[in-house]
Amino acid sequence: MEKENSPENCNVKVALHIRPLLRHERQNGGQECLDVVPGSAQVLMGSHSFIFDHVYGGGGSPSNNMFEECAVPLLDALFQGYNGTIIAYGQTGSGKTYTMGTNPKETSHRGLIFQIMNTIFSKIEALKHQSEFQLHVSFIEILKEEVRDLLDSVIIERLETSDGNPENAISGKHALQIRKAPDGAVNLGSNEVSVSTQKDMAACLEQGCSNRSVASTDMNNQSSRSHAIFTIHLEQKDKNTGETDSRELMGEEYRCAKLHLVDLAGSERAKRAGSEGVRLKEGIQINKGLLALGNVISALGDDKKRKDGVHIPYRDSKLTRLLQASLGGNCKTVMIACVSPADYNAEETLNTLKYANRAR
Ligand code: ADP
Ligand code: MG
Repeated sequence: MEKENSPENCNVKVALHIRPLLRHERQNGGQECLDVVPGSAQVLMGSHSFIFDHVYGGGGSPSNNMFEECAVPLLDALFQGYNGTIIAYGQTGSGKTYTMGTNPKETSHRGLIFQIMNTIFSKIEALKHQSEFQLHVSFIEILKEEVRDLLDSVIIERLETSDGNPENAISGKHALQIRKAPDGAVNLGSNEVSVSTQKDMAACLEQGCSNRSVASTDMNNQSSRSHAIFTIHLEQKDKNTGETDSRELMGEEYRCAKLHLVDLAGSERAKRAGSEGVRLKEGIQINKGLLALGNVISALGDDKKRKDGVHIPYRDSKLTRLLQASLGGNCKTVMIACVSPADYNAEETLNTLKYANRAR
């Protein structure tokens, strides 16, 4: 409890991940338009300057420090019973999926999720003499403010929405409803698949990703229009060793916590929603999640606002409602803003820098 007001308890961190220019961008004469101030986490773009908690790539820290700096503190917290969330934000093509590792087909590069799974299983192995562990995973996506279960085995079934317009149809067995239990916990009724090996967990990730992409052949590039949330639920029960040499175990025999790994919809959708009715509406709905998330994270990161008891607008979108129990309080949140360095993406990159800067 004491921890809650201590200064180091700024539980929201914002990192910037600058991907390299891709080959086709170079070939098309793309130039880099971002500069990292050497030895700092400060980024310059024209006359703008932004400071983050960490900057990876583009002359900042090497990206292989990201796991250690962004994920390890959340994994330690997870094993202590605290929820956490890692969120990848950015325009389509900026590297969100690459960073998170939500594309199992990308085998040349292992993103954060792979390293997270690896670490969870080695921690469990190291602690198994003193605790029993249970792991579950769930994987959902939010598209147009509808929540879909990506681990639903019979997911690819087309449902018409009530307005009868196939453009508005959601594929999936059913849209999930958010329910709030009396204790305040948000319950979705999505599948929570029990996993006991890293292989099982990776298989769930893969199944969910393929459910996401199968639907995308059907609806143009769905994965850039939806928010995907892969959640690892960890329960642990301390074994009664009959000895009291481990004092920290006393009174803490059972702990459970979740780690959410979020691959957000492309941030460009927020503005460039096009002019047609359906797309426009959809853009507004995607915008709703990103906007609400920005507001929530910014309110959480602002010590003064928090102390003044400013209202945190969790209820403004499905995304923030679902993440509510894992944002704020003792939970640790890391937002990784992903950007392209290419000059022709400058406008979107600047928007991302501003969004991320506000979150910080
Ligand atoms: P997003 O999920 O934001 O739409 P992706 O993760 O799919 O973007 O990345 C777009 C392309 O850029 C992919 O081909 C990916 O392999 C490549 N890419 C992204 N980030 C990096 C990086 N840090 N280093 C090398 N290639 C990257
Ligand atoms: Mg992606």
